[in-house]
Formats: sequence, C-alpha cells, structure tokens
Amino acid sequence: MTSEDTTTAEFTPGVRIPLIGLGTWPLTGEDAAAAVAQAIRNGYRHIDTAENYANEAAVGEGIRRSGIDRGLLFLTTKFNTEWHGRDKVRAAFGHAVKRLGTDYLDLFLVHWPNPAQGRFVEACEGLQRLVDEGSIRAWGVSNFKPAHLELLAGAGLQVPLNQVQIDPEHGQPGQLAYHRDHGILTAAYSPLGRNGAFLGHPAITGPARDLGKTPAQVVLRWHVQHGRVAIPKSANPERQRENLDVYSFSLSAKQVAAVDALDTGAPPRLDSDTFFH
Ligand code: NDP
Repeated sequence: MTSEDTTTAEFTPGVRIPLIGLGTWPLTGEDAAAAVAQAIRNGYRHIDTAENYANEAAVGEGIRRSGIDRGLLFLTTKFNTEWHGRDKVRAAFGHAVKRLGTDYLDLFLVHWPNPAQGRFVEACEGLQRLVDEGSIRAWGVSNFKPAHLELLAGAGLQVPLNQVQIDPEHGQPGQLAYHRDHGILTAAYSPLGRNGAFLGHPAITGPARDLGKTPAQVVLRWHVQHGRVAIPKSANPERQRENLDVYSFSLSAKQVAAVDALDTGAPPRLDSDTFFH
C-alpha cells in the first residue's frame, strides 16, 4: 500500500488501518459469525470487537468461515479494566487471541480508562511491551478524555489512536482538537448515531439526494473526509456494502461544514470518568 491510499491511514510507524471497519456489538453467536463472514466477503478488511461484547469467539469463527488470509485483515479488540496492569495485559492478550483463534492482534485497546482504579498508565505500558515483543502490531485506547490522555503523555506514552463516540450531533470538538494537536488518530464508534434521527436532516439528505447516495453514506464519507476511522455496525448485507462504499464520491467543503454544524454540544452517552467495565 502506498501513502496515496485514501482508504487507510498510517497511525503508528508502518501500520495502516482501513478507515471503515465493521462494528460487531451487540452481535453474538451465530449472528456475529455470519455477519463477520459476510462482511469480509463484502470487502471489509477491518473488524472491531471487544472482550466485553462476548463475541470474540464468534468473530474468530466468522473470520475463518470467510476463508480470508489472516494477514489481509485488520483485527481490533479491547480489554476490560480488570486487566489494567503491566503483566495483566499480557494475560488479557493471551485470552483474547485464544478466543479469536489467532496468534496476533493488529490493534489492542484499553476499553475504558477507569480513572478511579488509576491503573490505565500501567495498562498502556503493558501494551507497549506487547508491541515491542511483536504480539500486537499497535496499541491504543478508547473513551479516554484529554485529562486521561495527559496522564499518558506525562508518563512518556505517545498514544497512536483513541476510539470515541463521534457522530454529527456528537462532534466533540475539544476532544478532536486534542487528538489533532497530539498526533492521535480518531476512530469514531457509533458513527451513525445508532441509526440516529440526524440521518433525516437536510444537511445530510440534501447531499445524499444530489450525489445519489444514502444518508448513511454521506455521514460515513463525512467521517472519512475528516481523516477519521469509522466502525459502523450492520448485519444487513446491503447496508454493509453501502457503508463500505464511501470512496467513489466526495463532499464539498460547504457540505462538510453543514454536517459539522449539526453538533449539539452533547457529551458522549457514557461518562468515562465514572462508567467502565
Ligand atoms: P452505529 O452508529 O454503527 O449504528 C448501528 C445501527 O445502525 C444498527 O442498528 C444498524 O442496523 C444501523 N445501520 C447500519 N448501517 C446503516 C445504514 N447504512 N443505514 C441505516 N441504518 C444503518 O452504532 P454502534 O453503537 O453499533 O457503533 C458501531 C460499533 O462501534 C459497535 O458495533 C462497536 O463495535 C463499537 N462501539 C465501541 C464502543 C466503545 O466503548 N469503544 C461503544 C459502542 C460501540 P442493521 O444492523 O440492521 O443494519
């Protein structure tokens, strides 16, 4: 892949992540395995799962069922806060790869900071060791506010990626500015606002009509044009294909600004200073 590739981003030296990935929550069991296998056949090369979704084994089954060469796939999982600790992270890795039926991860994320427990710096140090040993290709965090990221910076840790809730109504400009200023790639979860009402807003339906695309495609294109990763979940084959097909058109600067203007200033659904698992 070359640096001109606009469907992926290099977020840590030598590692590129496909900008569109398949979200897998709340799929479990056969539903998850079937959705993952179908998504890979539909062209997805990036799958997002987590220990907490209780679907890693099913995701692994879907990957095997698709027949894809593991090396062509970008696989992300996340671990719970019980594993925060330099050595505990290695144990979390061992459990995750066993459930997934693989021997390495492309990206391993601290799912929630749990600041009251106060051990996320150690968790990230453990992750960096896994990178150094070659067990994982990259590490990152999820749901980390700037204050949490500051503590990591203070410990000398350069965070490659933070997965946070971003959609047109949850623009989180302060969070995104911090990421931009510190070279952290943003991955947007719930990128469609869980089929949010904003998909019916003229700032989105207008460009959709003019471009012959769906509202979801306009929103995912908006994420991608901002240089973000987005991981929409769909178990539906048409919507899976639709969500991946965001590279054959572009939004004008004015159209992007109109979607930006839908931001309500609302905080994410869950407050990561208090919520964790
Ligand atoms: P999304 O914004 O991805 O919305 C998913 C919903 O939108 C589903 O109901 C889906 O239904 C529907 N949908 C998908 N595509 C379309 C489309 N083209 N048009 C209309 N509706 C559509 O929300 P999620 O909360 O699921 O977020 C995505 C992923 O992010 C999760 O699956 C998970 O992997 C991750 N995540 C991470 C979190 C974290 O703490 N790090 C927290 C929450 C989520 P259908 O399946 O029927 O198409």
